[in-house]
Amino acid sequence: MKSNKNDFIEKLESGIKDLNISYSREQLEQLWEYYLFFREENKKYNMSTITEPEPVIKKHFLDSLVILKQLNFKGRKRWLDIGTGAGFPGMVLKLFLPGDSFYLLDSSAKKVNFLNQLIYKLNLKGIDATHGRAEDLAQIKEWRASFDYVCSRAVAPLNILLEYAVPFLKIGGLAYFYKGPEYKSEIEESQNSLDVLGAEIKEQITLDVPGLEADRYLIIVEKKSETAEKYPRRAGIPKKRPL
Ligand code: SAM
Repeated sequence: MKSNKNDFIEKLESGIKDLNISYSREQLEQLWEYYLFFREENKKYNMSTITEPEPVIKKHFLDSLVILKQLNFKGRKRWLDIGTGAGFPGMVLKLFLPGDSFYLLDSSAKKVNFLNQLIYKLNLKGIDATHGRAEDLAQIKEWRASFDYVCSRAVAPLNILLEYAVPFLKIGGLAYFYKGPEYKSEIEESQNSLDVLGAEIKEQITLDVPGLEADRYLIIVEKKSETAEKYPRRAGIPKKRPL
């Protein structure tokens, strides 16, 4: 494995350069450590079918980082990644936004366990992995309406995802949803969710992930007003009966 390190770092660095974001040697090394641990633990936990170096670089690491190029983040922010899985995008974003606070949330205990071990291994501060469902955590005072940013990839169609995400945001806070080519029809299905939860679509961006053929899009949603207390409804209901 060790002999593959240079090759991995070279490919990663080339992709990050194409993304036009600034980076350090330390960040490349951290992503290499992340990759090694992910690959090792995936044998036990079966978190992802994507485990070869190049696909992990493109589909997990660069895909997570691509929003940094699009957006202009200023100041220290509080982020939540809903349904983070093995840390995509939240864990990867944290490595490039070390001053921001990140909360990684997932309903799978084994993935959260993996993330907590990784946080310890990389000796990261200002990041926390929590086991739970978005519907439950969003009703807790310390979590509700307390985040500047929510991000989420591959968790649910937009109308359902909005019910998970918007209650966590402060008014004026933004949600970044990573989406595939079906994003337009998802938006069409989401007007009622947006109205009921007090949010608006702010932007739809076509993403360009270096070396990735797949069409990737970002939907940015802004919270405009307070969300009624009854949302999100109890665990499982948003998915069963989308708004
Ligand atoms: N975001 C990661 C990625 O892009 O690789 C993982 C995507 S995986 C397909 C979806 C993840 O969302 C799973 O790990 C699942 O446990 C989590 N999840 C689904 N519904 C959830 C909910 N209501 N609250 C918290 N996590 C949820």
